[in-house]
Amino acid sequence: MALLNILHYPDKRLHKVAKPVAQVDDRIRKLAADMIETMYDAPGVGLAATQVDVHERVVVIDVSEDKEGLMVLINPEIISYSDEQKTYEEGCLSVPGVYDEVERPSTVRVRALNLEGEPFEFDAEGLLAVCVQHEIDHLNGRVFVQHLSMLKQTRLKAKLRKEQRELERV
Ligand code: ZN
Repeated sequence: MALLNILHYPDKRLHKVAKPVAQVDDRIRKLAADMIETMYDAPGVGLAATQVDVHERVVVIDVSEDKEGLMVLINPEIISYSDEQKTYEEGCLSVPGVYDEVERPSTVRVRALNLEGEPFEFDAEGLLAVCVQHEIDHLNGRVFVQHLSMLKQTRLKAKLRKEQRELERV
């Protein structure tokens, strides 16, 4: 297994739309294993292949505190959303140090393939529902800060550009 490099916003590659996985084979299983290691090392509660510059629909998630809630979702789709919305303070391994409130449906039903290529479905609520929606957004080229107001996005980009300039000066 290997640790993968995580792209940082505003890297344009974070906005590519990922392609469906055509076949769940050893190449995809190796990618998932590396993504799991990278997520736990970060540490984070979820990682989409887009964040490691692989533009295929693979997501790994573990919202538990004891590494016992690992899920690998291949070609995940949300097949139903609750009407009820909930606001949660989100963060992202691709936007380090930035946390902000995003409103999303509070419960979703998800369909995906597992590492054997078999379909399965589950209902997600709470942090898992937030995480699944956040990671599927990544596969669609969307970073959570794009849910924020234009003013906040403009300020954030200016701040990140300033930090980048300071890093280059060192
Ligand atoms: Zn993220």
